[in-house]
Parts: sequence; structure tokens; C-alpha cells
Amino acid sequence: QRMMELRRLNCNPMTMKVTYYKSPVFVHQGHMQWLWDMDGKRYLDFFAGVATVSLGHCHPKVTAAATAQMNKLWHTTNIYVFSALQEYCEKLASHLPDPLKVVYLTNSGSEANDLAMLMSRLHTGNHDILSFRGSYHGGSPQTMALTANSAYKYPVANGGSTTVRASGEAATAETPPYRPPGQCVANDQYIGQLKETFATSLPSRIAAFFAEPIQGMGGAVQYPKDYLKQAYKMVRERGGICIADEVQTGFGRTGSHFWGFQGHEVMPDIVTMAKGIATGFPMGAVVTTPEIAASFAKGVHFNTFGGNPMACTIGSAVLDAIKEDGLQENSHLVGTYMLTQLAKLRDKHQIVGDVRGKGLQIGVEMVEDKVSRTPLSLAAMSDIFEDTKDMGVLIGKGGVYGQNFRVQPPMCVTKEDADYFVAVFDRSIQNYMDRR
Ligand code: PMP
Repeated sequence: QRMMELRRLNCNPMTMKVTYYKSPVFVHQGHMQWLWDMDGKRYLDFFAGVATVSLGHCHPKVTAAATAQMNKLWHTTNIYVFSALQEYCEKLASHLPDPLKVVYLTNSGSEANDLAMLMSRLHTGNHDILSFRGSYHGGSPQTMALTANSAYKYPVANGGSTTVRASGEAATAETPPYRPPGQCVANDQYIGQLKETFATSLPSRIAAFFAEPIQGMGGAVQYPKDYLKQAYKMVRERGGICIADEVQTGFGRTGSHFWGFQGHEVMPDIVTMAKGIATGFPMGAVVTTPEIAASFAKGVHFNTFGGNPMACTIGSAVLDAIKEDGLQENSHLVGTYMLTQLAKLRDKHQIVGDVRGKGLQIGVEMVEDKVSRTPLSLAAMSDIFEDTKDMGVLIGKGGVYGQNFRVQPPMCVTKEDADYFVAVFDRSIQNYMDRR
């Protein structure tokens, strides 16, 4: 009935290429890790609006700060200076190591990555940009060219293929395997492939190297130990700069560190962020060094909404709440626990091929069987996904072949929530196996 109403209004929620549910969830209300639909059914939200509502829905402290600001000032543009902007930029910069201290505020992750691409080209005078197969860096024409995951791309120029260079702009490197750092013996092999990419596609003209510290849409893909360290060195030797796309991994999501890049012991030249930055309010940021900012200052940076008073106030309350509520620590605690519990499902079920990730950035790779490792069919993925939802838990999907489930809840979740999710997920997998 509701679906028909939406169609009548010409508002179809199924326009996403990666179709989500067979029967959509009509979300009505949220509180922390919980969502309610229009019929009053409650869901445990283990996807957090695509890893965005990092503090939980309508977090009381953030809501209070936003309401107070709303009654004071909404918008002026960055033509003017206002205290919320100044305070926020200083606070955000204090969460990054030296020399990453210059902050630019945007409205989304795509816009942040667009800006970072521009900065890298202005700073180096080079044009080419390297990204990974399976990566996702945004939906704008430029960032879509960087994105090397066909599930999210449109068949048009610049938004098309990037497994080879797209419009002479981006080249993709082979994604390293996803074993946890230290357990992978293939580092040399992947570094060899990176060298090959440089030799064949990017002869010393590189502007930037983009990497998510742990791939998000790709399905929690991780790099071998020291891989990023070596890759950063190779990029810098060729005159390029290194960009950490922390849109999903930032703000404590990986648990052990505030930023994902810190888990790789590398120092990026530019860090881009969005999603968890404002727990659902549209906002993004680029943080860079004074040196790169100086190259960028040759032009004018203006956007109407970036860093508006509402965003700055909410961003500031988010940083406070992460600290006050111990959310990074909780992400580490519950994430580590959940990875252990999910590993038991991997050992139990033939179709659970891999469980990986860090903190609350978790991926479960589904396969037809553990020997062939053929990605589980999309129909089977959809069955399990739908069943999990019907039993009251929302998770995400991803991966180049659509073979990954993504588990990225708000950072306020408890071990009990994790147990509930794992039990439901286990039952959904078993139900599918019983039908198969
Ligand atoms: N980078 C990464 C790693 C992302 O996951 C996303 C969004 N899924 C983006 C960039 C683009 O962010 P936005 O959708 O806010 O433009």
C-alpha cells in the first residue's frame, strides 16, 4: 500500500542501483541504535545510515546543541567568521597530528574528495591519481572516476570504468587481500603489482594516491601489514602526495585509533572525512598541511553551505560526545567481541567465507563454498539480508560482486546488541541453508 502511494507521488525509493530490500523499510523514528518503522516495528540498526550515524540516532547531547544553535543562527556562508566555525576548526585540528592542521569544511564526502583531488593537482602540478580496485570515493563525476567498484558506477564517460585509467585521470591498483595485518604473506606480491601499475600506467606524473584505511563499500577490505607504508613511500618518490579517505573509518570507528590511517603507521598529506563527522547531519572536511594549503590558496575556495553554524555546532558536539561517552573505546571493545562471535559463524557455516575488519568496521564475505570461494549468488545474499531484516536487524551490503555483508553500527552498541545480531544472522544463514 505504502509502496503504491510512493509510486503515485513519483518518489521511488528503489532508484539505488544496489537495490536494498525486496520490501522497503519505511523508517519513522530513531533513538540511538534503534529505529522504528511506520507500523511501530523496532529494528536494531547495525548499518547506521551507511556508517554515518556514528553516535546513534538523535543522540541527546548532539540534539540539544543543535537545537540551541538553531535558535541562534543557521547560516551566513564563509564570507563571515563566526565563533562556532573558529572553535570547530580548532577542535577538529586538535584531533589530528602535526602538520595536519588546516581545515576546509564541505557538505559531503564526495565534495571533500573532489577538493582533495584539486589540491593535489595544484600542489604537485601533476594530473594522475591512483586508487584501489574495490574502492569507493564518491558519487560526483570526478570521484566516481576514482571509484573502482562497478556496483556503484554509471555507464557514462568519467563515471565509467576505472579498472583502466578513466579519462586519463585515475588508475587503479590491485586491491591487496583482506587478511588482517600480520597474517598476510602476500605483501611482496601486491607491492610488485603496485610497481607494475606505476611502470605501465603512471610514469612519474602522479598527483595523488587515494586509499581508504579499510575499504568500506568494498566490504571491510584490509591491507597487509606495511603495505600502505611502502605504497606511500613509492608515491612520494614519484612526486605524488598521499590522501587518506577517512569518510567511513574516521572518528573512532576502527576502535584502536581515532583515525584509520594511524593503524597503518603512516602520515597522510591530506585527510578527507564525512559521515561520522556529524552523526548524520550533512557535513564533510578536508584537513591538510600548511604547505599544501598555501598551494591551494592560489585559487578561491568557496562553497555556500560548507561549515555553516549548524554543522560546526553539531560537529563540535560529536567530538565532545565521542570522548565523554568513551565511544572509540566501545567501538574497540564491542567490535573485537563481535569479530570473535562472527568468526564462530565462519567456522560453522560453509557459506561464510571470511570475517574481517577492525572495531565497528566489519565485513562478512559470503561464498558458495569455502573451496571454490565463488561469491554467493545475489539471490542468496538477498534472501539472508531480507530474513535478517524481518527478524529486526538492519545491516548493509557491499563488495565488488555484492558478496559482502557490512556491519557498521552506531558506536554506542553493546555486547548484548552484538549477541542479538549474531543470533539473528546465524538463524538467517541457517534458514537459507535449510531451504537450499
Ligand atoms: N569515501 C568513502 C570511503 C565513502 O564510503 C563515501 C560514501 N559512501 C564517500 C567517500 C562519499 O561520501 P558522500 O556520499 O558523503 O558524498
